[in-house]
This record gives sequence, structure tokens and C-alpha cells, in this order.
Amino acid sequence: MTVPGTRLPGEGVNGTGAPRGNGPGAPRLNGTGVPGAGAPHGDVTRRGPLPTGPDAAYDVVVVGAGVVGSAIARALARHPLRVALVEAANDVGDGTSKANTAILHTGFDAAPGTLEARLVREGHRLLAGYARRTGIPVEPVGALLVAWDEQQRTALPRLAEKAERNGHRTTRLLDADELRAREPHLGPGALAALQVPGESVICPWTTTLAYATQAVRSGVDLHLGCRVEKVRTGDPYHRIVTRRGVLRTRHLVNACGLYADAVDALVGREDFTVTPRRGQLLVFDKFARDLVRHILLPVPGPLGKGVLIAPTVYGNVMLGPTAEDLDDKTATGTTAEGLAGLREQGGRILPALLDEEVTAVYAGLRAATGQEDYRIAAHPALRYVTVGGIRSTGLTASLAIAEHVLGLLADCGLDPGPERPLAALRMPNLGEAFPRPYRDARLIAGDAEYGSVVCHCERVTRGEIRAALTSTIPPGGLDGLRRRTRARGGRCQGHYCGAEVRALFEEYREYGEGAR
Ligand SMILES: Cc1cc2nc3c(=O)[nH]c(=O)nc-3n(C[C@H](O)[C@H](O)[C@H](O)COP(=O)(O)OP(=O)(O)OC[C@H]3O[C@@H](n4cnc5c(N)ncnc54)[C@H](O)[C@@H]3O)c2cc1C
Repeated sequence: MTVPGTRLPGEGVNGTGAPRGNGPGAPRLNGTGVPGAGAPHGDVTRRGPLPTGPDAAYDVVVVGAGVVGSAIARALARHPLRVALVEAANDVGDGTSKANTAILHTGFDAAPGTLEARLVREGHRLLAGYARRTGIPVEPVGALLVAWDEQQRTALPRLAEKAERNGHRTTRLLDADELRAREPHLGPGALAALQVPGESVICPWTTTLAYATQAVRSGVDLHLGCRVEKVRTGDPYHRIVTRRGVLRTRHLVNACGLYADAVDALVGREDFTVTPRRGQLLVFDKFARDLVRHILLPVPGPLGKGVLIAPTVYGNVMLGPTAEDLDDKTATGTTAEGLAGLREQGGRILPALLDEEVTAVYAGLRAATGQEDYRIAAHPALRYVTVGGIRSTGLTASLAIAEHVLGLLADCGLDPGPERPLAALRMPNLGEAFPRPYRDARLIAGDAEYGSVVCHCERVTRGEIRAALTSTIPPGGLDGLRRRTRARGGRCQGHYCGAEVRALFEEYREYGEGAR
């Protein structure tokens, strides 16, 4: 049994009640360039020694600042606990969470009765609402599950029944004519489809950043560049040995994605092995956007959801992913064969897509564990929760996983104390379907830098770049800046704006490096 966290609601993490800045000139600016509203602020550190001393022990340390770990840290921030989110990379959302197909799934096709089915369904509801409140771009375009042969056509009614068992009663079978009326650019041979309303496209980068930002603004310390290398379990504190020193914590959460098995081993558990399952993707230029209205899904096969074509919230079209089981957890490169295979399949689904230019290619690694479900487990004797095997639905399920983990931490003896409101949050909009700063006359009238376009492909302004570079969690590099603004993410991939974006990054570098 542990004692509840000792910090009071509204009290600062440094014990003074005062917000602490992570960069020069604190208080820091939030993502909109407006000073924060005075919520208790956690520290964001990127280097230097970790906090030590008698007050430096945490109630909970969450390891891994992907979408899942960040969601858990945010959920814990609702309580008067001392919490740290610890990440090996120098930014949040730098693992699998930055490279997926960005679909907010309804869970219509999950295996009924599994934990994943429940958390995806619940996560879809929670994240759709959270996105509305915080400005994460979501477009509820709906999905069409397209049958290309008789066998697939006969599978559609079974998939509709499965959707119903998962609580989705709004699916509808479409014949070939109805399908073509909805998607006129489909290739020849599309026989029928199952229409799935509610499937949406979302910005995965803003989602992770929103969770982590809200967690930090509500008192969670974020330690980046801080790989966990050893765990010395103990009572009342575990000692978490990282590259930057030792943290003490009563409870530990492992949200390490591909490395959840390795961190499990640090506490003496060997419950599963993570096998990376690579998914390669092609992103087509914005001129392709009019070719597709829905998320076009194949009828699923044994290796998962299969290859899809979907719009993105940034106004592009995406084709992928592959599904390749590998040994190497760092193999995030694309291959000529993988991309050629995708083009072949994509050309059958939407032939005109192949005439469009490709803006980018990338690959992400799913954390497969040989079980068609998540591997989330509480280990009360160790005051430890593993959040593993969050394979191809973790973005969608993230908020529901976080609530589930809070319950498991209680099973491990954590008394979270009373609830308190989280710090307010409104994220900068990266979505094409919503107003962007370069078109906002009032915003520009108030701050001319929002009228000064730096990245012309993606129409990103100097004001947005400045706001990102001085935000609660400034990017650690140019890729992190791209995930916060879209700068350098368009058809020229930074060829024209790269120098100016880098100059801005250097100008504000002191914010990103933090106080230490
Ligand atoms: C190709 C592909 C397509 C997908 N499509 C979708 C989709 O459309 N919709 C959807 O909902 N989901 C999708 N997913 C799944 C989703 O992306 C993942 O489930 C989710 O990102 C997993 O998040 P995570 O936080 O568990 O892992 P990660 O994002 O990998 O985060 C884990 C973090 O832990 C850190 N870490 C690891 N070891 C240590 C250590 N020792 N010390 C400190 N830090 C450590 C890592 O650096 C990493 O940042 C897809 C995945 C892939 C690969």
C-alpha cells in the first residue's frame, strides 16, 4: 500500500506554487503564442542531471512518451500526484506514434470480446470529443470496405455482423453502382462495399503533443533524452537508472512500444516478445486529394487490415501500409520492393493515383507480440504496469488505455487522491479542413508574422513556427518542428524553405534546449 501523492491541487511541482519555466524568459509561451494561464507547470528537460534530493521522488514514472505514455501522463495529471514522463528520444511522439496511417478507427472490425475491441471503441469516442475541444484536426470521412472478388463480396455481410457485435449498427452494404457513385475514380472490378460511417482521419502528431503539453501544463515533469537502462526495484521506491541519472518512484508504467519487452526484462518479467511489423507508406501530392472521398479499405486478411487508400488531414492522399515481420526494431527505412508492391495494389484500387506525384515515403513499426490483443498487465507486487503490444490501433485507443491504466495503478496500490481540472488547451491547427493562420485576417492584423509565409508548399507562417519554437514542449529538431507546423513537409520537402526554417530554429534554439 502506498501513500497518496502529497502535492495539493494547484500547487506547483517545485513546492512554491509558482510555475517553472524550461527556457529563458519564463513564463513560457503556449502553442498559440499566448502566455500560459498559470496552471501548475511541470519541467521539460532535455539534458543535464535529473532532479535529486528528498523532494525529488515521484509517485509515478511513465516511461515512453509516445501517444500511449503521453495519454497516461495526462490522465495522471488530473490528480495531485508527482508524475514524470521519461523518454529516450529528444522529443515526444518520436517512435511509432509519428509514423502510422492516422485513422481514428471505430473498432468495427476488432475481435469482439478482446480488451483491444473495448478500448478502441471507447478510445474512438473519447478522442473524437477531446479533438473537438482541443483543436486536433479530425475529418469524419467514413470508410468503404471494397470487395474486388466474389469471395470478398460474400465476406461483407459477415463483417457487418461483426461490426454489430462490436456495437456499430450503422454500417450499410452498397452494390457496385452505389459504390461507384460515391467513389467515381475506383478501378474496374469493384463489386460491392461495406460502408462504415464514423471512421475518420486525424492528425497523429497533434494528438501526442496535445496529451504531453496538457500533462506538462498540469504539473507533469517531462524528461527527454533520458533512456531507462536499469530498474532497481525497491520499497517504498524503485530506482530508475537512466542515461541522465537516477529517478526514484513508487510506481512505474512501461509504455515503451517496441521496447516494452526490454523494459519488462529490467524488472524481471518475460511475458512476451515484441516483433516489429513494418508498414511502409506513400504520401501523394495534394493534387491527388480530389480522387478519393472516403478511407478505402480492403477486406481484411490474415496479416491485418491490409493496404488502404485514405485522405490525410493535411490534404494529401496516403497509400499503404505493408505488413512485414522483421527482427530489427530500428528498421524504419522503406524498400524499393515494398513501395513497388504498394503502387501495384494502389493502381488497382485507384488507377489515376499512380499518375500523381509522390511527396514522401515513410515506414512505421507495429509492436506485434503474437497475440491478437494488447498486452496490458498490472504487477501489484512490483507496483508496476506494462502497457505492451499496442499494435495497430494505439492512436485511436490511447485515451481509453490511459483510463484503464489508471485503474490498474489503483490495483497496484496507488491512491490517486481527488480529481482536479487539467490546464486549458487549444492546439494550433494543422488541418486543411479548418481555418489556417495564413487566411485569418484578424490574426494577421494582430501579429503580422501570421501573414508571412515561410513554407509555401504547406503555407506555414513565421508566426506558427515562432509559436511552436517557444511552446510548452519546443521541438528538439527540424523534424519535430515539421510535426508541429507542417513546415518542410510539402512537395519540395524543404528544398525552398529549409534554410529559413533552420535559421528560425537556431534563433529560438535556447527555448528548445531548456534551462539545463
Ligand atoms: C504502419 C502503422 C499504421 C498504423 N495505423 C494506425 C491507425 O491508423 N490508427 C491507430 O489508431 N493506430 C495505428 N497504428 C498504431 C499506432 O501508431 C501505435 O499503436 C501507437 O503509436 C503506439 O504508441 P506507443 O506510445 O505505445 O509507442 P511509441 O510511439 O513507439 O512510443 C514508445 C516510446 O517509448 C520510448 N522508449 C522505448 N524504450 C525506452 C526506454 N528504455 N527509456 C525511455 N524511453 C523508451 C520510445 O523512444 C518511444 O518514443 C499504426 C501503426 C503502424 C506502424
